[in-house]
Amino acid sequence: MTFSARVSRVPSIRFASFAIAIPLYKIFDYTIDVADRVEAGTRYRLPFANGVKTGLLLSTSDASEHDSARIKAAGQRLDQEPVLSEHMLALARWMADYYLQPLGEVLFQCLPSYLRGANLEKPARLKIWRILDADADTIAAMQSRSPRQYEICRAIEQAGAGLNALQLKAINPNWYQAVRALEKKAVLEWVWAEMEAGPVVHAQWPVLSDEQDLVLSKIEARLDCFAVHLLDGITGSGKTEVFLRLMQSRLAAGFQVIYLVPEIGLTNQLIERVRQRFGEQFAISHSALTDLQRYQAWDRFQRGQVAIMLGTRSSLFSQCDRLGLIIIDEEHDHSYRQDDGIRYHARDVAIKRAQMLDIPILLGSATPSLESISNCEREHYFLYHLDHRPTRFAPPGLRLLDVRDSKLEYGCSARLFDKIEQHIQQRGQVLIYLNRRGFAPVVMCHQCGWQSLCQHCDARLTLHQSVQRLLCHHCGFTQTLPRVCPDCGHGEIKHYGIGTEQLEQGLRERYPDIPVLRIDRDSISSPEALKSRLQQLQRGDPCILIGTQMIAKGHDYASITLSVILDSDQALFSASYRASERLVQTVFQVAGRSGRGDRQGEAILQTRFPQQPLMQSLARRSYREIAQSLLRERRSVVFPPYARVVMFRADAVDLKQALAKLEDIKSLLSTAGRFGEVSCIGPMPALMTRRIGRYRAQLCLLTGNHRALRSVLHQTMPQIQQLASSARVNWTIDVDAYDM
Ligand code: ADP
Ligand code: ZN
Ligand code: ZN
Repeated sequence: MTFSARVSRVPSIRFASFAIAIPLYKIFDYTIDVADRVEAGTRYRLPFANGVKTGLLLSTSDASEHDSARIKAAGQRLDQEPVLSEHMLALARWMADYYLQPLGEVLFQCLPSYLRGANLEKPARLKIWRILDADADTIAAMQSRSPRQYEICRAIEQAGAGLNALQLKAINPNWYQAVRALEKKAVLEWVWAEMEAGPVVHAQWPVLSDEQDLVLSKIEARLDCFAVHLLDGITGSGKTEVFLRLMQSRLAAGFQVIYLVPEIGLTNQLIERVRQRFGEQFAISHSALTDLQRYQAWDRFQRGQVAIMLGTRSSLFSQCDRLGLIIIDEEHDHSYRQDDGIRYHARDVAIKRAQMLDIPILLGSATPSLESISNCEREHYFLYHLDHRPTRFAPPGLRLLDVRDSKLEYGCSARLFDKIEQHIQQRGQVLIYLNRRGFAPVVMCHQCGWQSLCQHCDARLTLHQSVQRLLCHHCGFTQTLPRVCPDCGHGEIKHYGIGTEQLEQGLRERYPDIPVLRIDRDSISSPEALKSRLQQLQRGDPCILIGTQMIAKGHDYASITLSVILDSDQALFSASYRASERLVQTVFQVAGRSGRGDRQGEAILQTRFPQQPLMQSLARRSYREIAQSLLRERRSVVFPPYARVVMFRADAVDLKQALAKLEDIKSLLSTAGRFGEVSCIGPMPALMTRRIGRYRAQLCLLTGNHRALRSVLHQTMPQIQQLASSARVNWTIDVDAYDM
């Protein structure tokens, strides 16, 4: 940024620069009261355009490069203390610089959504109830007249320091009426608790296997400084157990811990496991909670009221004074990447955060990303293996079920039915993975070939039979299922392909006496619905579980003995270079759900392409071996992780405009010094060109020379940002794009 000659100096006012959450690469100057104690990271209300926005103060000075007469005064200050710490401000600046995203948007991303607007801070304090005034006789007298009140008083008396709502609820689900009555009698009163993390609960900690013990001691020996540790352990090998031990040892040393899981990985099973070990010393944050609940979790962690933050992607931005470890469970998982709004990879940002704080970070997976494996090879990460399950049985090897000549009923072959029946008869549970929701993905006229296509996207509408509608899975467009063909009027409209809804219906009809549970976005409307299905699994009675990726990972149910991957053939023909990696990860994860208890598991993949080399590898080789061969392929074509990808994307109501925007960007890039070392693919229409009514195009930059790419981008971004912006074309930049 260059300073103009017209620097104004007005000693009686102070200028402050603010970041605002808008997609512009700019910060904004306002004047503030000289008397105001100002600290970076504090929110103010600011007059902006014709309205008011919330801004985050970044710095102050006695001068502004802009015409001081035209600088507006900042409005109300919202926070007494900065809401973002210096460390978080620095992390946000790094993210804005690395991912080339607008600083204002990045900063607000680091705040809980509750604080992104004008909400004032509201410390999440906990009420506790304690005995106000009662002698032993008064309490004893309750025993016969009101046993519930007696029970509660006794519990509070024994606890000494008082009990909170959660603890009271555990004593009696109808605690509240009793407590109200006792308040009225002036036996109890409530006060705000200044909750401090209590002592570690002494739950049952299993004795670690020798293998786990060895890994634990190696990592423990390196906990006092920054290092990335990758725990590569087969499914069910006890990685979580190692995480819990490391958390325990960090807590004992007075540190706090962030434990990240993929969106779908945050199951009640894990929450219960953490609760058993650490009591109420943890906060939870994920997308099914309200803004206020997530803010309260953030706030309790920040105040040190809880030692552990257990949550999904955005929990990474939880701040606290004593962070001593970050754990990224299932580090390969796609949900760590944010693909809309600010684009970043939570794993990579977490590693940067750990480096800035000089603390260890632990990645874990049974199917580590190729990125992480190659980082271990380059000795950037420490690598540890767990190759055995502490329970009796190894994960099942995968068997291919060749269905080239088979007639399929709702996607299943006769031999698959035999297998399912065999496992059910032996009182096992069966898991069937089918990553396609709805009833059928294709609806066609048998006469003229008409297909149900979305009006707004280049996509087919999926048939959802239970509601008799066609639905677009990309934009949500929906219409009723036509009874005759809209084109030729013929009556024979047919559907093709299988979705989870059809599979469920088919299996229910075939096996009326066996419970069939379906877990996908359509059948699970709330966290409670998911919980009740999973509880049924936990009980261990024979049943068939059908699901999309929601069931593929993280779950640990002892009675599942058969895992089935029903239909993954389309991944063999995908245009995405990531498709094989994803297929392999999914297959190993799904297979790994079975045989976790006291029975050997089985895993089956049904395919029409058993001869295909990748299918052959899946049946014969370990994840580690397959990952090595995928890495060799990537290296030979210089693709990630041996190259960096940056994508520019544009969308408009007209494809030409989107392409023209990217053409302009490309010509700016091509004037930058080292552009010759960067290959440029496009501009060209995106794979799914039309989506939600807009035409999309992309420009892909790919290079094995990371420095060259960064230097080109750094030189060019200011000009790209200044390109005549047209309201009709949106454009974004995606650094380390997941796909091309
Ligand atoms: P992962 O995270 O690798 O999938 P988990 O830590 O969830 O593995 O362990 C899988 C199962 O084995 C869990 O039910 C867990 O309670 C059990 N388990 C793990 N470690 C031990 C151990 N040392 N002794 C007994 N059981 C264990
Ligand atoms: Zn027709
Ligand atoms: Zn659509």
